[in-house]
Order: sequence, then C-alpha cells, then structure tokens
Amino acid sequence: MSTLLDSAFAEPAPSPLLLLGQGRDLASERGVECTGELPAASDPDLVERARAARAALGSRAFVLGHHYQRDEVIDFADVTGDSFKLAREAAARPEAEFILFCGVHFMAESADILTSDAQQVVLPDLAAGCSMADMAAINQVEDAWEVLQDAGIADVTLPVTYMNSTAAIKAFTGRHGGTICTSSNAEVALRWAFDKLDAAGGSLPSKVLFMPDQHLGRNTALLKLGMSPADCVVFDPRKPNGGLTDAELRDARMILWRGHCSVHGRFSERNVTDIRAAVPGVNVLVHPECKNEVVEAADYVGSTEYIIKMLDAAEPGSSWAIGTELNLVRRVARAHPDKQVHYLDSTVCFCSTMNRIDLPHLVWAMESLVAGRTVNRIVVDADDAHWARVALDQMLALPGL
Ligand code: SF4
Repeated sequence: MSTLLDSAFAEPAPSPLLLLGQGRDLASERGVECTGELPAASDPDLVERARAARAALGSRAFVLGHHYQRDEVIDFADVTGDSFKLAREAAARPEAEFILFCGVHFMAESADILTSDAQQVVLPDLAAGCSMADMAAINQVEDAWEVLQDAGIADVTLPVTYMNSTAAIKAFTGRHGGTICTSSNAEVALRWAFDKLDAAGGSLPSKVLFMPDQHLGRNTALLKLGMSPADCVVFDPRKPNGGLTDAELRDARMILWRGHCSVHGRFSERNVTDIRAAVPGVNVLVHPECKNEVVEAADYVGSTEYIIKMLDAAEPGSSWAIGTELNLVRRVARAHPDKQVHYLDSTVCFCSTMNRIDLPHLVWAMESLVAGRTVNRIVVDADDAHWARVALDQMLALPGL
C-alpha cells in the first residue's frame, strides 16, 4: 500500500547560495571547525569512505544514532534510539574507546557523564544543538531559584528536568535533590517528586519546577496526574519574578519553565482536524512535546520509542497520522508499507539541528579518529558531571526503569 507521506512533501533542493560545512557562510556555521578536511557532500566515494573508516575503527568505536537523524547517518549507527536509550547504550559499552554520538549536544553530554574518563565522546558537528535545551541557561535557572526562595516556596519545590537540557541544568537538579525524566517516564518522575515533598510535610502545597519543556510538564500533569490548568503556571525567565506574583507561585503545583521544542511546537489542533476530515478513521499519534490542545485532540501520545512500537503493532491497512520529527516518520512509513502513514503537519518539519549531522561530518569524525586525532570531543566539567550523574542516577532508580 502506498503512503500519502511521500506526496506530502518534497526533499528540499540543495541551495546554490549556502553550502553548509564549506565555510561559505561562517556566521551560520559557528562552532564548526573541520580543519579544512570536511568531505564534499557530492563526493561519490563518501559511502565507501564511511565504510572504510568504520571498519578501521572496529570495536574501538561505537556509533549511536538518534531516531531523528538522517538516513545516511542511521545507516552507520550500531544502535538507534531515543536520548535515554542511547545514553544507557553508551554506558553499557565500557570497551569502546570512542562513542560517536549522532544526535545533539545535550545527548553527547549525557553520554560523557555516563561513560568512563577513558572513553571519548565525539559529536560530529558541534553546531548540532537543541533549541529547547538552549531555552534554559544555568544563570537563568539559578535566578529563578532565588525567586522561589524569596517567595518562600523553595523548601516545598523539587526540580524535575527533562533529559533535553544542558549538563549544567542537570547538575542544578542533582544539587537540589530532584530528578531527570524522559518523555517515557515523566509521570513516574512527577509522582516520585510529589511523594517525596508530601512526606516532608511542608505547610504550602508541594511543587515541581519542571524544565525546560512546558508542554511535556503540562501534558503529564493534566493527563496523567489529573491536575487542572489552574494548578500550572508558566515561569518566563525573561520577566521579573518569572512574570508571576508571589501568590501565584505559592498556589501553583507545577511551575513550568517557558521552553518548548521548535519542531513539535509547529503541530496545531487544526492539523488534527484537517487530517481527520481527509482520512476517515485515521489514528492520530503525537509526541508529548506537542502543545496540550494537540495532545488532547490526538488519539495516542507517547515517546519516539512508543510511536515505533505502536506502528509495529498496528493492523495492516490501518491509517496513522504522526506528529513528531520527519526523519523518524519517514522511516516508520517505509518500515510499514502495509499501513497508511501520514505526516501530521502539511509542511516539512525536520529538526534542523539534528540534521546538522550528515555523512560528510560523520566521515570526517571517523577518518580523524583513524588518523589518531580526536575531533569535537564533548567533555563535561567534573563538578557538573558529578551532580548531573546524581540526578540521572535518581531517574534510573525510579520504579519501572
Ligand atoms: S526535535 Fe526539538 S527537542 Fe529534539 S533536538 Fe530538535 S529542537 Fe531539540
């Protein structure tokens, strides 16, 4: 059965004006230093070079590929997964000298935290960041905690921080007794935090400072913990006092950091209405980083691993509209030619920073390692690594993991 996905978009044509990775527009390539050896994307031997470098590295290297990576990169991944699964996979390979992380910066940081000092984590393109993680800077978070202290509620608040955050924010979470969570275990993490606070018996309602994705925090609080919108406030780090009164902070149960994913934030309730009208009986399946009105309008909500499992288990002939990053949806569609797979948005929705990792950068990173030169190594400073590890270990100790 053909999918409607293929007709929903066309591959973007290469721009004749901006050739990324070739130094044509240095401002757009900040953070990228490829020491003049980055292969051209048009190199006809690129795949062969990648195979040769991968073979030369052998078991000294382990290549991790996030679900949102390009196909050309996934082809060389030893394992694929979401950020949590990949962090655990990295930690489970103490024999690998090099961890090549095909994902974004915060994921490579987590891999560095969870691996030994003898192992080197490499991010093939340093410009592969995450707009959501960048929405919570450590100085902003420390200022926000002072606001909570001044309002007299820091003692009844625990930070619960999404995996999609910098190592510095994870370390802040560890220092303040909180936990990291993923899109798969956010409910368990929130219940753990509220139980811990309630057991301490503060005089004010227990609270969670949820960072940096307001949507995952709100969706979990409303859909899984039965809270009401009135229990949630949004803390805007660019406004005095987060844009909130002390009374609003004291009454809240969920203090949601004003951050979001620029990819999942594009999906709208209108997308759901339109696909239901166009495809009767379609199952709408979205990621919990989508806005609450989108999640409420969908039939199913879950992490990337959940999305993959749902399609694996779906009936042949069934129709699905998926709201997450396009590289993953395309692969899911190709893996299930007996099902109709639609992209929820009518326009192309790649994660631009995930897409920074391409085959030329992977070849460059691998060939450099073969030549005895480690490039783009990600190293988290020792103190942050210690406290971030405390918060990550707390997550690993949550029930159900
Ligand atoms: S999809 Fe969103 S959360 Fe994931 S890396 Fe891209 S910007 Fe960050």
